[in-house]
Amino acid sequence: MNITRITTCMVDVPILRELMITSSLGTHTATKITLLRLETDAGITGVGEATVAPKWSGETAWGAREIIDRYLAPAVMGRAVSDIPGALAAMDQIAVLNPFAKSAIEMAMLDAWGKAEGKPVYDLLGGAVRDTAIPIRFSLAALAPEVTAANAARRVAWGHRTVKVKVGLDPHADVARVRAVREAIGPDIRLTVDANGGWSVEDAVWALQEMRPLNLLLAEQPVRREDLDGMAAVRRRVDVPVMVDEGVFTLWDAEQALKKEACDIISVYPGKNGGITLSKAIAEMAAEKGVACAVGSNLELDPGTAAMCHLTVATANIDADRYHGDILGTLYHAQSIVKNPVRLEAGVAHCPTTPGLGVEMDWDVVERLAI
Ligand SMILES: [Mg+2]
Repeated sequence: MNITRITTCMVDVPILRELMITSSLGTHTATKITLLRLETDAGITGVGEATVAPKWSGETAWGAREIIDRYLAPAVMGRAVSDIPGALAAMDQIAVLNPFAKSAIEMAMLDAWGKAEGKPVYDLLGGAVRDTAIPIRFSLAALAPEVTAANAARRVAWGHRTVKVKVGLDPHADVARVRAVREAIGPDIRLTVDANGGWSVEDAVWALQEMRPLNLLLAEQPVRREDLDGMAAVRRRVDVPVMVDEGVFTLWDAEQALKKEACDIISVYPGKNGGITLSKAIAEMAAEKGVACAVGSNLELDPGTAAMCHLTVATANIDADRYHGDILGTLYHAQSIVKNPVRLEAGVAHCPTTPGLGVEMDWDVVERLAI
């Protein structure tokens, strides 16, 4: 079953105002992304999503559409949908970087392949190694301490057992915010922080030492993405486990982070890593060094959210029970683009079990949201 056509469109999906994420990267107010539809000679179709954000990977919805239409789609045309390694290599040969755009094509190939085989994507990845109900954490914007604390309490009441607080702005304000959240959620909820690279090494060490009584599960990307040595320094100087996120996009990045002993945990997800199979490969590489992985996010819609679920269910070294994943993108959006949204309920994501990704696009809604 071979690829015969790939078409793209861009959508602008509003983020719920009360959930807009404020972090050291600024405020995320809308999701402008590129969707793609892959057709095959068997009449089976697949869908993919390039969850682009210029502040994250430098990719934009317009750029992703252009590079898919003009370069990546021609590079994979005619290829069997099951030839994932061949498609990834062909795309890398014609364009460097652009992981979210490449991931959209791989996602659609796996979707179509799964539908043809009557198997969910996690079966194509080697089979389920955990339950399809996946605990998820909730991400809280860096707002005034009392506001973030109230938001945290609401999410805990909803069922989340882990919350993540955005930090990385002013270290003193960061400490006050995280302290207020711990007071609001009590001692039993797992508490994590994500600086999105906003701290210096000295800020990170100071802030994380101040937060020591707050019993953090992990600190995510304390220093800027290029600074693996800084990550390693923070890791040596504080006793909070350090997670690398922005610092690891590719397998090469992961290898460097492991070599420099820059992290205790690696955040992986399909868009950032350039494909579901590449996230899995990073997790397998990390397993050899005894470093666990967790699922991160760029506020995906349903196809991307489903892709993260399938990855998690099929990957042993994604320690989803200890490090609850950021499978939460659809909670933030005011509108779903599928007829059967991925169920995110009471702090748990339910991985679809139907063939392919297990989501059916609502093309009427897509058309309404089209840019
Ligand atoms: Mg992060």
